[in-house]
Amino acid sequence: MTIGFIGLGRMGSGMARNLMRHGHELIAYNRTRQKAEALASGGAKVAGTPAEAARNADAVLTMLADDHAVEEVVFGEQGIAGAMRQGAVHVSHSTISIALPRRLAREHEKRGQHFISAPVFGRPEAAESAKLGAVVAGAREQIERCRPLFDAIGQRTVVIGDQPWQANVVKLGGNFMIASMLESFGEAFALMRKAGVDPALFLDVMNGLFKSPVYENYGSLIARRQFEPAGFALKLGLKDQRLVLAAAEELSSPMPVASLLRDRMLAALARGQGDLDWSSATRIAAFEAGLE
Ligand code: NAP
Repeated sequence: MTIGFIGLGRMGSGMARNLMRHGHELIAYNRTRQKAEALASGGAKVAGTPAEAARNADAVLTMLADDHAVEEVVFGEQGIAGAMRQGAVHVSHSTISIALPRRLAREHEKRGQHFISAPVFGRPEAAESAKLGAVVAGAREQIERCRPLFDAIGQRTVVIGDQPWQANVVKLGGNFMIASMLESFGEAFALMRKAGVDPALFLDVMNGLFKSPVYENYGSLIARRQFEPAGFALKLGLKDQRLVLAAAEELSSPMPVASLLRDRMLAALARGQGDLDWSSATRIAAFEAGLE
């Protein structure tokens, strides 16, 4: 397939490389051009605008920071909506609101284009080693058409439904679950430290109870208090707590724990941790215990 790939940050660059490894032709665009140029040695063509990346593509994949970035790239003056061919598909991998994918679906349809949502689980290491998990929603035939792309970037694809935004609500719910686990670790590790127990030992016990790579990996980062370099920046983690609360508000489904997590991340942001990994939100529990 000829793919326009837009957004070559921590996640997008690894995904783009894996698509090329699978023989797809890539036209890459990134706001900061050097990140797109870094892919040229692997055979990617570099586009000067989102429109240029989209013009001849069968599929345009976006892996951008947030709603604002997606809106600019899709609907901006040099956006992809005005440039994609009829019948081409836009696959949005970003973690965005549940409102924006509805607008994207409508606007692409008006132009004879297709839209599917395919947010992913997994950190930049998983993106690099093609181990992401994708949750996908949209028209079945478009999902099947794009399945080789999902197989190239990840190891598990779960189809959620035919409404693209449903994949986004699953992604937001998933990040809420991970953030809840981070907070639990923060509080429990603070307690262990106050009690003179090594958090690594506590983690060992917990890994026997909760067998999950998420527990193992994040638990180990938090036990070692290794919050740099960020795999997932705290400011983006805060965005996700805000987005899940907006979804909860719209769907009248109270999420009191999400409110607490949003405030924890806000406190961490106020303490200058926006560019640290989001697992550094656990420092707030440690701080409140008089440890930091
Ligand atoms: P990142 O490293 O900060 O990359 C963000 C990308 O968005 C960069 O390419 C950036 O361009 C671009 N961008 C930001 N604002 C823009 C704008 N206004 N116009 C055009 N481009 C813009 O973030 P990431 O960690 O790769 O995350 C990307 C998305 O994946 C986010 O929605 C995040 O929530 C989600 N996600 C992240 C992880 C993770 O562990 N990191 C895991 C799963 C999902 P520049 O290079 O020019 O800044």
